[in-house]
Amino acid sequence: MSTGAAGSRASQTLREEVVHWCRESVRTGLNFNTQGNMSVRLPEHGAIVITPSGVRYDVLTPDQMVVVADDGQVLEGDLFPSTETDVHLAHYRAWPDVQAIVHTESPYVNMFGAVGRPIDPVLLNMVLYAKGTVPVMPFEFSTNRAFGERSAAVMGADVDAVVWANHGLLAVGQDLAGAFKVAVAVEANAQVLLGALQLGAPRLLDLADVVVPAGARLP
Ligand SMILES: [Zn+2]
Repeated sequence: MSTGAAGSRASQTLREEVVHWCRESVRTGLNFNTQGNMSVRLPEHGAIVITPSGVRYDVLTPDQMVVVADDGQVLEGDLFPSTETDVHLAHYRAWPDVQAIVHTESPYVNMFGAVGRPIDPVLLNMVLYAKGTVPVMPFEFSTNRAFGERSAAVMGADVDAVVWANHGLLAVGQDLAGAFKVAVAVEANAQVLLGALQLGAPRLLDLADVVVPAGARLP
């Protein structure tokens, strides 16, 4: 399948973006080693650009990204796509407005996942970006389409992230920067929530209670 000149340019930009956010995920402590994976939809057709399987983020290059059709067929790339490619595709299928997916394995999110406790919002960024309480999907092995369909259903339409118990977080957004903001916000919120629970009864935030003044720029 040819993506054409416009498709190739878009693909190159998105390949570079995926590499950038992968490196950011390591720099900010959301991932380490080859943990996690990211993908973004190509605007021209139903395919996605996704990270290859098993490549360390510090040596990852844009040409190593894999372009995969919505049926899972590899269209471009010499490496195997992420082992969780079918999981990403299931979320894109379930939620057509989602344009990008960031999967991280950050420690504070995983503390809540390990005890099966949903992550309630106590920080402004959590309600602005994740939109509400992030649910926990019970543990199961995470590489097939059926897992992805269940994960998308547990996440639901109202929040932009889901915790996979004993594993990590899947965050969605309108672009990679947006999905990454969700992953950062949930991890920061999980860390503060853990401490706040030790101090007392945290005051939870609800998106409906957040009145954003006209003209205000979001953080
Ligand atoms: Zn993972």
